[in-house]
Amino acid sequence: MNNLCDIYGKLGISPKVLSLAKEAEEALTQRFKEIDEVAEFNQAKVTLAMHNNRVNATCFAATTGYGYNDYGRDTLEKIYAECFGAEAALVRPQITCGTHALTVALSANLLPGDELLCPAGGPYDTLEEVIGIRPSPCSLKEYGVSYRQVELKEDGTFDYDAIRAAINEKTKMAEIQRSKGYKTRPSFSVEQIGELIRFIKSIKPDVICMVDNCYGEFTEYLEPTHVGADMAVGSLIKNPGGGLAPIGGYICGTQECVDRCAYRLSAPGLGQEVGANLGVMTSFYQGLFLAPNVVAGALKGAVFAAYIYEKLGFRTVPHSSEPRADIIQAIELKSPEALKAFCVGIQAAAPVDSYVTPEPWAMPGYDSEVIMAAGTFIQGSSIELSADGPMREPYAVFFQGGLTWHNAKLGILTSLQTLINRGLINHE
Ligand SMILES: *Cc1c(COP(=O)(O)O)cnc(C)c1O
Repeated sequence: MNNLCDIYGKLGISPKVLSLAKEAEEALTQRFKEIDEVAEFNQAKVTLAMHNNRVNATCFAATTGYGYNDYGRDTLEKIYAECFGAEAALVRPQITCGTHALTVALSANLLPGDELLCPAGGPYDTLEEVIGIRPSPCSLKEYGVSYRQVELKEDGTFDYDAIRAAINEKTKMAEIQRSKGYKTRPSFSVEQIGELIRFIKSIKPDVICMVDNCYGEFTEYLEPTHVGADMAVGSLIKNPGGGLAPIGGYICGTQECVDRCAYRLSAPGLGQEVGANLGVMTSFYQGLFLAPNVVAGALKGAVFAAYIYEKLGFRTVPHSSEPRADIIQAIELKSPEALKAFCVGIQAAAPVDSYVTPEPWAMPGYDSEVIMAAGTFIQGSSIELSADGPMREPYAVFFQGGLTWHNAKLGILTSLQTLINRGLINHE
């Protein structure tokens, strides 16, 4: 304990803050145990899929050019499909980010005259231009795909009557976002998503149900494709890349949907056959292997942050006692100074760029200034320790990641210490 006190002291953490941490960890023993149980299950699931697909060293070989007969790439896609309970998967470095993966899934499966339905509130910000909610060249709208949206009810639940009324002869696909992202609604559990999908299919069985799975992977025992989703889509620089994947996205789903996605990503007729891996396979495999435990570390950090800030009187979403469907933790810090101090603390705890001071800036596409803290190995990777928030009421910070629980913990303690040092919270 002395040694721990010493080394934390060198990192700027006072004994008082350390004792708060100790108390929080003791109070959260049961929560941490539950998180570890999910991680253990998912670790076994990933390992079993690797066994079943006979992973060996040739899987890690780099391919170039067209990438025909890329054994490592094809085997990894089978492993993803198995882990997600899906018929097929497309897992590629040529998918540049989460938005790109979602765009491929949407544009491959929607044709002119079709309608896309968001049955549970608006989609992720970046999809507004993809869909054409905000005008953009090459949007789905330009290609003659119409769009309809049903808001959640006041209490955050699905508005089944309005969804029934919105489904019509043109409705081809429904898009459901698992994580709250940067909204204040609760995230949806896989069980809730399954219920919504069953409802939609009971009204119109051929509606393709696609889930934006970003930030949700491995936080629960099941993925949306286990409960009826035709596609689950996400980014490899979030949960499933385990912090090691340097780029990439995935689409798991029915053979028919994934085939179309492959034709859209490369070219009709070529599909999944092309796409050299350029040497990223080791990081994709190893990242997937580590992902269940990396996600568990991030979840512990999220619950720990919630608990500590609740004790200090701040509102959190979700509350530390609530079940988790994603790795994002929102904390309403109530003042611009507190939001800044929190981000300064997170940045100071990061393994990379720890000496940098984050400042609010006018980020394109946002109506207020935004402050961001991230010191990551992979640019913009948000499975790594990171925090951001818009400089407006209620000065909420969105905190996520930490490749290890202990680094997430350090981030939260450094944030708290910065708030204390700046006289922004008086705690005794
Ligand atoms: C991150 C995210 C996206 C978009 O991913 P990018 O990789 O940033 O393009 C989409 N949906 C949700 C819910 C996300 O969290």
